[in-house]
Amino acid sequence: MRPDIPFGAQHILQTLAGAGHEAYLVGGCVRDLLRGIPPHDWDICTSALPEQTQACFAGQRLVETGLKHGTVTVLADGGSYEVTTYRTEGPYSDGRRPDHVRFVPNLAVDLARRDFTMNAIAMGLDGALHDPFGGAQDIRHGTIRCVGRPDLRFQEDGLRIMRALRFSAVTGHHIEEQTARAIHDHRSMLGRVAAERIGAELRRLLVGPNVGDVLRQYPDVFYQFWPQLGPLAGLEQHGPWHCWDGWEHTVRTVEAAPADPVLRLTMLLHDVGKPLCKSTDEDGIDHFYGHPAVSAQLADEMLRALRSDNRTREQVVCLVGRHDMPLPPQDRTIRRWLGRLGQERFFQLLAVKRVDSMGRAPETAEEQLAELAEIQRMAEEIVAQGQCLTLKNLAVDGRDAIAAGIPAGPEVGQALEALLERVLDGDIPNHRETLLELIASTHDKRHDA
Ligand code: ATP
Ligand code: MG
Repeated sequence: MRPDIPFGAQHILQTLAGAGHEAYLVGGCVRDLLRGIPPHDWDICTSALPEQTQACFAGQRLVETGLKHGTVTVLADGGSYEVTTYRTEGPYSDGRRPDHVRFVPNLAVDLARRDFTMNAIAMGLDGALHDPFGGAQDIRHGTIRCVGRPDLRFQEDGLRIMRALRFSAVTGHHIEEQTARAIHDHRSMLGRVAAERIGAELRRLLVGPNVGDVLRQYPDVFYQFWPQLGPLAGLEQHGPWHCWDGWEHTVRTVEAAPADPVLRLTMLLHDVGKPLCKSTDEDGIDHFYGHPAVSAQLADEMLRALRSDNRTREQVVCLVGRHDMPLPPQDRTIRRWLGRLGQERFFQLLAVKRVDSMGRAPETAEEQLAELAEIQRMAEEIVAQGQCLTLKNLAVDGRDAIAAGIPAGPEVGQALEALLERVLDGDIPNHRETLLELIASTHDKRHDA
């Protein structure tokens, strides 16, 4: 018995076997065990029909949502396990879902419907493998390979294209040649896949350590669902800052960004508006005036098209729109932007600026990186000191202003804003007494005038 199989899964496999059925671990968990990484879910396949599985666990909590496809979810020992009857999938006339699933008595048939050899391995409780397509060897060699004919498998279900790229980005495994060719040839199948499923795979793909190679080798797949990226390829950027075309610069910044979906999406989209903004001056230098705003607009449309959640979309659009904004290393500017953007977004913006520099010509990057490091240090100090950054932190509030004689209404806000500006500039300290005196004196002056 393998010690790394959780008790709940062991119990289910033993119970099914005890009732005379075959049952194995299968899919992602077996792949991950063979790669030596802890699985995040445990799927089980069995010869038992769904009602037989239900009968085996009659005393336990079951979830029946997947019953139509043969899946019974068994809750055991604090875990949740999907137990699915061996099945084959009918024709895929829409390139999305099988027209029907049919239960079969045979493990080999069930494994044959699965997408890649590394996902088509079954493991018994003792660790013995059923591996008809050589998945274990492919895992050892770091190879992603379709089960069966790649062109047919991608024509059945276009989502497999994104899954192949995601596995490659996450594991660093390379995609075998015929599988790779079929991905390029059948990329238009993605047009039939639900946008949110493409989006979900894309998020996972982007945070993989091998994302750069995937973006370089399969740009056509990304242009398929986001055609706006296409014109970055071959976009020349003559000038002192750049030594790569738009796509290579983009890929380098994605790779250099921390493995966080918001930052990686931001880098993938940060220059998408550049091709629309290009002009060349008489010295032959290329300019891209206004490209952050155009990129932000496109990013918004592109993320909506993939049904991104609102929070991710808003963060990415904000960062794309500001990625190129000047940020001098001055306390007053840093305080202003910390206040306007909030700490989280401000430090994300610094990360974006840092990786944008890293994707540029190395001779110009060094100076920018040193300046960004200085800004980071100054901002951390401002935060650590709890300096006043917003109206909320100001030592006086609306009630104080009214008590000092400002009439209730819009003038209260204006007076507080004016004080905040001076505190942010460092002209006056954020002291209650000082601020109260100032309110009173400006009010008196206005009154006198
Ligand atoms: P992860 O859970 O890490 O995303 P996984 O391979 O377990 O990876 P699941 O979506 O949980 O992915 O699917 C479980 C198994 O079902 C897969 O390992 C594979 O055998 C099969 N499978 C999933 N999606 C497909 C598909 N689109 N085409 C064919 N087989 C699939
Ligand atoms: Mg899984």
